[in-house]
Amino acid sequence: MFKTMASIQDFTGYQPTWCPGCGDWAIGMAIKKALVDLNYSPDQLAVVFGIGCSGNMNDFLNAYGLHSLHGRALPNAIGIKLANHNLPVLAVVGDGDCYGEGGNHFVHACRGNHDVKVIVHDNRVYGLTTGQSTPTSPKGYRSKSTPMGLIEIPINPLALALISGATFVAQSFAGDINHLILTIKEAINHKGFSLINVLQPCVTFNKINTYQYYLKRVYKLDKNYPKDNFKLALEKTLEVNEEKFPLGVIYEVEQPCFHEQIPQVSSSTLVDKKRFFNYDILIKDFI
Ligand code: SF4
Ligand code: MG
Repeated sequence: MFKTMASIQDFTGYQPTWCPGCGDWAIGMAIKKALVDLNYSPDQLAVVFGIGCSGNMNDFLNAYGLHSLHGRALPNAIGIKLANHNLPVLAVVGDGDCYGEGGNHFVHACRGNHDVKVIVHDNRVYGLTTGQSTPTSPKGYRSKSTPMGLIEIPINPLALALISGATFVAQSFAGDINHLILTIKEAINHKGFSLINVLQPCVTFNKINTYQYYLKRVYKLDKNYPKDNFKLALEKTLEVNEEKFPLGVIYEVEQPCFHEQIPQVSSSTLVDKKRFFNYDILIKDFI
């Protein structure tokens, strides 16, 4: 247990191996700064990672970490939350990882309002496997996996989260670290499923969605923007079709979380119950 306030250094693990200029650097630093600002220490939260350049952050961030399987960060995060709902749980994932391999988990995590904070490094490409198209790559995108151009249209993660029941839907940009820090803090403070889709340039494999591309197209939501207006939020999420990218909390409402609706864990955590339960009784017939 940390006796004094934790610092950025306390959250810092191994030296990152990300490419110079990658948006992942800003996301990694923003997560640490947000946690310090919220007065957390590394032993007070769990962070689950998927597979990819984003998932490699497992080595670069000090916390109770779990480097899970490709696309499976969310079920692991939900399991941790159900075992100990007093623990803040973050899931750090990539666009291919979360919206591709993990797409089914994503939809069901939204509709359950599981209290996990999902930070998606959306670079519209599989970076770690050297540049294949993902579910958010634009139609026509030429990559190693689609040399003739991508046939499918991209999915819209913000709209998908919204219509699936997410209670906090936000977008931020790796080129604006102050906005990112603020948005991560808002997501952590929200009670319920939280998505931050972070526009993250992959400087090595995505030569279309660059910092310059986004800088011309992002804009911040007005401070008087009504976050609880579902129809307006849906309109905002559809602006991606015109290559406009609103930054900020697009939608936020308060609803009961999944764990709050289970009588067995609503009053105390499973971890606490385990302390008073003799598990030997359950397994005595098998030994
Ligand atoms: Fe970042 Fe792309 Fe390099 Fe991965 S491959 S570290 S996403 S720039
Ligand atoms: Mg990616």
